[in-house]
Amino acid sequence: MNTTTPTSLFDDALRQVDAAAAHANVDSETVARLRRPRLVSSVTIPVRMDDGTLQLFEGHRVRYDDTRGPAKGGIRFHPDVSLDELKALALWMACKCAVLDIPFGGGKGGITVDPKALSHAELQSLSRGYIRELADVIGPDVDVPAPDVYTNPRIMGWMADEYSKIRRARTPSVITGKPVDLEGIIGRDDATGRGAYYCLKEIEQQRGWTPSQVTVAVQGFGNAGQSIASLLHADSYRVVAISDSKGGLYRDAGLNIPALIEAKNSTHTMNGVYCGCDLSECSKCGLDEANTITNAALLELDVDVLVPAALEQQITGENVARIKAPLVVEVANGPVSSEADTALAARDVLVVPDILANAGGVTVSYFEWSQNKSGWKWSLEDVHSRLSQMMRSAFNEVHTRSKENGISMRAAAYAGALERIASSVQAQGTSAFFAPQEHAALQPAVRV
Ligand code: NAD
Repeated sequence: MNTTTPTSLFDDALRQVDAAAAHANVDSETVARLRRPRLVSSVTIPVRMDDGTLQLFEGHRVRYDDTRGPAKGGIRFHPDVSLDELKALALWMACKCAVLDIPFGGGKGGITVDPKALSHAELQSLSRGYIRELADVIGPDVDVPAPDVYTNPRIMGWMADEYSKIRRARTPSVITGKPVDLEGIIGRDDATGRGAYYCLKEIEQQRGWTPSQVTVAVQGFGNAGQSIASLLHADSYRVVAISDSKGGLYRDAGLNIPALIEAKNSTHTMNGVYCGCDLSECSKCGLDEANTITNAALLELDVDVLVPAALEQQITGENVARIKAPLVVEVANGPVSSEADTALAARDVLVVPDILANAGGVTVSYFEWSQNKSGWKWSLEDVHSRLSQMMRSAFNEVHTRSKENGISMRAAAYAGALERIASSVQAQGTSAFFAPQEHAALQPAVRV
């Protein structure tokens, strides 16, 4: 097995596109266009800190592809944000929107920052500053941001407000994932996890599962991880392990997910739910050290379903041989490196790829954008039923192609996405149309 580490996340993403192109009926121009972003913008954001000092932050926005519609993709606040990472994430967004047949291209943005180190006022100032610096390259019909890691509805609300002030016109459709009371859409909060849940429900049906006999481990307990854990728990799945950046919890009998969500969101710790103490004292209440688990060990648990819902590159050439779960549902973007993906496919591990599994978020973002543009408000029932229908239909389309062509679900998802993007490229004409020898476009139509 090749054990070389890819030089960059973006190179890894390009490898996935190249591999899928071999299974797709696409013009080479489409693949060539998708190898480069359309526009990359980098800015410096000055923020006056609470202590009076000035700090300068680095921000970026990548408009990767807008062939099928305005670019669409989240904004990430994280110390490790880099242009290389954002280009990969933006390319995946273009493919994701095509998998779901949503009329958007792909974009992504971010700021290199540890948001946990900022006060609320500093965070607001940074969020508004990001929009001031990048207002000329985003817009409702150009590039539409949304939340991602360590950004949330409140931040989206500040950003939409700042953009509206710059344009001197209320413009909610510039950003999705806004608070429901600030022209957001109901049901966007759990849409990413819910979309992945609908994929799992299709698998449950295919395999005739009894949920209480199915064990699940979820890495990452933020927006997406909490939502899928909570929906599966409500269906009686045994969610035996969860984790966040500080570590994880394991309980063979299954964890109390609603209580953990409440504890995590109120105290920012997960173990507090059992005893209100820190981990060193947890033996007093039954949560002793044996119930804690590292992020690395969580990935290697012998569970039926593994859900990486944190960051990219968690399953790589280094740990793939120790992954025991027969089913991996990629709620995070890019949690499995292409090298690990090949190894998992060779072992017949079913991987539901990120560009399908986590597409629920952008799907409901599309509903929100459309609600803002039309002025017609959606009900929660509308959101859930349209999301369920779109996710299940995309899942079955990809799954059927994967079975019929004997390829992984990832290759099938990318192949379908490339064909949709290629159709739009071809509608404008490729070299097959513009080649000088034909001049077919100038010929009068033949009438019979
Ligand atoms: P979030 O900020 O709400 O939560 C991230 C979680 O991951 C937190 O619990 C954090 O503690 C945890 N985490 C961070 N580093 C970790 C590490 N090294 N190991 C384990 N856990 C770690 O973010 P989110 O919106 O839930 O996004 C999670 C993933 O889902 C990302 O890959 C994101 O790109 C993807 N995603 C999110 C959305 C969305 O709508 N929010 C949509 C599509 C994809």
